[in-house]
Amino acid sequence: METSRAIVITEKDHLELRELEKPKLKAYEVLFQTKTVSLCTIEQRTYKGTRAYQLPFLGGHECSGVVAEVGEGVVGVKPGDKVIFTSGYCNQCEFDRSGRGTQCENKQKMPKHAVFEGFVQGGGLSEYLAIPAWQIIKMPDDVNLNHAALTEPLACCVHSVSKARIKFADTVVIIGLGIMGFLHMKLALMRGARVVISETDETRKALALKNGANMVFDPTKVDVLEEVRNITGGKGADVVFNTIANPAIWRTAIELLAPYGRLVAYSSQDRKELIGVDFGYMHSKEIEFIGTLNPTIEDNEIATKLIGNNLIDMSDLIDSTYAYHQAQEAFDRACVPNTYRVLINF
Ligand SMILES: [Zn+2]
Repeated sequence: METSRAIVITEKDHLELRELEKPKLKAYEVLFQTKTVSLCTIEQRTYKGTRAYQLPFLGGHECSGVVAEVGEGVVGVKPGDKVIFTSGYCNQCEFDRSGRGTQCENKQKMPKHAVFEGFVQGGGLSEYLAIPAWQIIKMPDDVNLNHAALTEPLACCVHSVSKARIKFADTVVIIGLGIMGFLHMKLALMRGARVVISETDETRKALALKNGANMVFDPTKVDVLEEVRNITGGKGADVVFNTIANPAIWRTAIELLAPYGRLVAYSSQDRKELIGVDFGYMHSKEIEFIGTLNPTIEDNEIATKLIGNNLIDMSDLIDSTYAYHQAQEAFDRACVPNTYRVLINF
């Protein structure tokens, strides 16, 4: 039996290095060989037991690799190509076929990428995966695979920033400078916005300024609402991206908006914790609320070009890199609060 090395979460705080069966290719599938996988919050929360995914769990949806083999009918890539894979779009539903694949109706019904009895979410924590050809995107031969592994989070932010319809010189407030806030900042700057960051952590505040943020306010030290009104002649922000799940922050985010302002709900939010919204205010100020979830295939295409053509530098987002056999250390490092991405190289 040909095998595929894998890192499996078997119980809280416990990983196992396993040898899975290497998947056999069917027509229109690509055998993806993982080179780099990034530990997202889904892996961290499953490892720490704060999110109830079924165990054993094979994660890894932020990853890059090479094409090992192609099945019959695959015409877009060949063995040796550097590639990433997207989310599990079926490409057979109305949402996927109309540029709204984030709401794919059949994601849960798609075959698992790996030969694994437990729950597979992406599966990039194993070495070989069978992926439908339409979920594979080729990257340039000279791309840095550590950077390419961060295509998925970048694509999520491309989706969000595109929905905000930023215009030149718009004032954009980004609440929180985690990895997602950081990528929103980079993309909003590329769109010609004046970017204001709200963040409490000293290291992240410095990183924002180093990467081109126009202003950084610490909400524990100043009234961000007052500061934003001061710099906009009392009007407020044209766009607010909230990347922090906290009911009190949503209320401030709404107040920050100028007339015609757009609030993008990037962060997830516990749906049992309702946030009171003054619809009279929304009506009279003509403000918009925009939800955003995951990227479409087109957003992934854009993200691969941004990274592959060196239009965006991902190096500040990589905290550290570990080898396969150091998986435990990598997970422990990734779970330290305020850590940017930790990568594992197979
Ligand atoms: Zn679909």
